[in-house]
Amino acid sequence: MFISYQEFEENLSRVQASILAAEQKSGRLAGSVRLLPVTKNHPVDAALYAFRSGLKSVGENRVQEALSKMDDADSAMGWELIGPLQSNKAKKVAECFDRVQSVDRAKVAKALQRYASEAERNLGVLLQINAGADPNKSGASLEEASALMECALGQSNLKIDGLMTIAPLDDDPAVARACFAALRKCRDRLEASFGVILPELSMGMSGDMEAAIQEGSTMVRVGTALYGKRDYA
Ligand SMILES: *Cc1c(COP(=O)(O)O)cnc(C)c1O
Repeated sequence: MFISYQEFEENLSRVQASILAAEQKSGRLAGSVRLLPVTKNHPVDAALYAFRSGLKSVGENRVQEALSKMDDADSAMGWELIGPLQSNKAKKVAECFDRVQSVDRAKVAKALQRYASEAERNLGVLLQINAGADPNKSGASLEEASALMECALGQSNLKIDGLMTIAPLDDDPAVARACFAALRKCRDRLEASFGVILPELSMGMSGDMEAAIQEGSTMVRVGTALYGKRDYA
């Protein structure tokens, strides 16, 4: 059974309080970190709850799942793709999503460019970097980041807002924190070498939000802490 709206509101208050506490602890302005609710594997109600509470964008992992929810949600809702993207889905994604956080190789950037251009859209993107060098995670390596950036900058219908990473799962919180610091430094290097501004650092999830905020996250992507576990029996 999916949670009630009241339970969602309670969870949301807790998550917002943790974000605020982490902002304060790291000397950052209140409100400098945005919350992206992650609705994957949950019914469309998860997105409806978010919208009703004033959170106007959600993150989804799978293209097909997101497309079917879009029909049932408010047309003002924003949809961000945070999961791996096959280039054969690029057309739908370029047409229907508001931003793609998972651009991890040149082929994907070029496919999105082609279809965004055909649809006469400008599409916001983040480059996904495997900053923790985790063999289980997708994302360009830190070494590949510069080449990927160069390619993405050449795509006139893509607007590169910043970088995204998923930290390795590890009992030691220092591992996630080092990954987040590495993403921030990668962003700083790319800004300096390409003379661009990359304001968005999408990093931190339910289990590692605080470390991410301490290292400069501007957007945390939170599923479990808002909606509970995803494994429905
Ligand atoms: C599922 C997912 C999240 C949310 O994870 P939780 O641990 O449930 O908060 C965040 N980012 C990505 C890319 C995800 O796939």
